[in-house]
Amino acid sequence: MTCFDKYSLAPYAVRESRGRAFKEPPCKFRTDFQRDHDRIVHSEAFRRLEYKTQVFVNHEGDYYRTRLTHTLEVAQMARGIARTLKLNEDLAETIALAHDLGHTPFGHSGEAVLDGLMKKHGGFEHNLQSHRVVTILERRYPDFQGLNLTKEVLDGILKHHGPSSLEAEIVNIADEIAYMNHDLDDGLESGMITIEQLKDVKLWKEIYQPIVKKYPKLDAQMLRYQVIRTLIHILIGDVKDETLRQIKRHKIGSLKDALALGKSIVNFSKEVTPKVKELKAFLFKNLYRHERVEKMAAQAREVLEKLFSIYNANTKILPKSVQARIGRRDKKERVICDYIAGMTDRFALDEYKKLTPNNS
Ligand code: MG
Repeated sequence: MTCFDKYSLAPYAVRESRGRAFKEPPCKFRTDFQRDHDRIVHSEAFRRLEYKTQVFVNHEGDYYRTRLTHTLEVAQMARGIARTLKLNEDLAETIALAHDLGHTPFGHSGEAVLDGLMKKHGGFEHNLQSHRVVTILERRYPDFQGLNLTKEVLDGILKHHGPSSLEAEIVNIADEIAYMNHDLDDGLESGMITIEQLKDVKLWKEIYQPIVKKYPKLDAQMLRYQVIRTLIHILIGDVKDETLRQIKRHKIGSLKDALALGKSIVNFSKEVTPKVKELKAFLFKNLYRHERVEKMAAQAREVLEKLFSIYNANTKILPKSVQARIGRRDKKERVICDYIAGMTDRFALDEYKKLTPNNS
């Protein structure tokens, strides 16, 4: 039984799964991808996203995105794009919900610190870590390790590795559209970037000016909301049109054709791509390199490096379940890295305070 009408899907959509590592009888009332969706939402790693940094640390204020709200925005955009392209919405949404499960505390700064600490032990990368979370680290089922997700969802989580379904590609671009727009919104809300600074950024300018003309009396926040919702709408429409053009151009008539292509065809158009690049460069220069973000990066480094070295010197202070993993399948450093990567920002800070009483 399927819960969606297979025949309304495009011929290049993923219709059903190639299966799971551990064979399970199908669910009577959900598709395989709906079942994966539910397993992800019930996982511990998913709940922890609520207290992990996207760009702004959690205690900076209630307005800003967290890793969880970012994930939900990506999931709804991925679902929407999949629907307009007649692709498998359940699969796209499910990959999106899992796409950041491997993120460390303190956003990309945390990831860079762990990668540095793990240099001699295989490094650290958040997509690979998301895959580890759902295949090894989550323990909820007596019959298998991890969540035993379908091959399609696991492929989507790994990204860049091998041929991708169009549903997986949609998640990558939905991630980009989501973060560009919510970082603009959060950046403006925080005052770390200003509308004045944005006035020469093409994508912003093209949308902002007509809105100001139409609503000359709008307050700054309402104006910002209108620009951002319009920008999301334009970017999603552009991706949809460009993808349909590419499907036609490459004569993609089946899922096999889509997988054989070996490159991403879910993209912005030639006209929009350089404007997106410009906006990203703006955010990089003015927001991600802002002194408040840099300060957080310095704090992340101090906290995570100290925790790593304390655990490394004395594994007896790790929780029993973590200690038990050492040497079983992974070496000490990898087990410590998994433990730290799973922490929320506030847990890492509390643990740091407890273990370094003289520093705080
Ligand atoms: Mg993301």
